[in-house]
Amino acid sequence: MEQPGLGLEPSRGGQQSPAHELIPQTPNLSRLRDAAAGCRACDLYKTGTQTVFGAGAEHASVMFVGEQPGDREDIEGKPFVGPAGRLLDEALEEAGIDRTRVYITNAVKHFKWKPQGKRRLHQKPNAAEISACRPWLDSEIALVKPRILVLLGATAAQALLGRDFRVSLQRGQFIERPGLPLMMATVHPSSILRAPDDESREIEMQAFVQDLKRLAQRVKGS
Ligand code: SF4
Repeated sequence: MEQPGLGLEPSRGGQQSPAHELIPQTPNLSRLRDAAAGCRACDLYKTGTQTVFGAGAEHASVMFVGEQPGDREDIEGKPFVGPAGRLLDEALEEAGIDRTRVYITNAVKHFKWKPQGKRRLHQKPNAAEISACRPWLDSEIALVKPRILVLLGATAAQALLGRDFRVSLQRGQFIERPGLPLMMATVHPSSILRAPDDESREIEMQAFVQDLKRLAQRVKGS
C-alpha cells in the first residue's frame, strides 16, 4: 500500500515492511503514534515494553533521529529521556537550541536488549529491523517536514544515507539527497557517555556541541 499524501521516496531495501499497512489513510502525528503502538512488523515488540514514538514540535525545523529507545525510554515511552537524553539536552543548551522547538525520534521504535545479570543490555538493531521500522520514520519526516534532519550515530546515518556512510569521516557536513530534507550526521550522545575518561568525554562533548552550533547557524541562515 502506498503511503497516502506523504510524498517521500519508498524506503530502500527491497521488501515492503508490514508497517506500511498500519499507516493511517489520513495521517497526523497523533494517529501515527496510536497506529505505531500496535506495530508487530518485526520481533522487537516482543522484548520492548512499548513502542517509543517520536516527540516534539509538530512542525519543527529540525528533526533529530537516534538509533532506538534505551532502557529508560522503554519504560517511560518517550525518546531521549535517559542518560543520553540528558547529555543531548546539555549539548543543545550549550549550542543555543531549544529542545521544545525540535522533534526527536529514533530509526527503530522498540528497545532491543539482552539480559546481563539484572541489567538489560542494549543491542544494536539489525538491517531487517531498521527496514521494518522505516515506514514510521518516513511518515514522521513527511508530516513534520523538517528543514534539517540530524542523524545521531551510525544506525540513523546508515538508515538514511546508506550502509557505506561513515559518521567518523563526514560528521558535521550538510548532505543533500533526493526526496529527503537536508541532513547532517554526528555522533550519538551515548558514545560520549562511553568515553574512557573525563578528558576524552569533554573533548567529545565539545565536538558534539560544535556540530550542533553549525546546525543552529544553518537553521538561522536558511
Ligand atoms: S521496532 Fe518498529 S517495526 Fe519493529 S515492532 Fe517496533 S515499531 Fe514495529
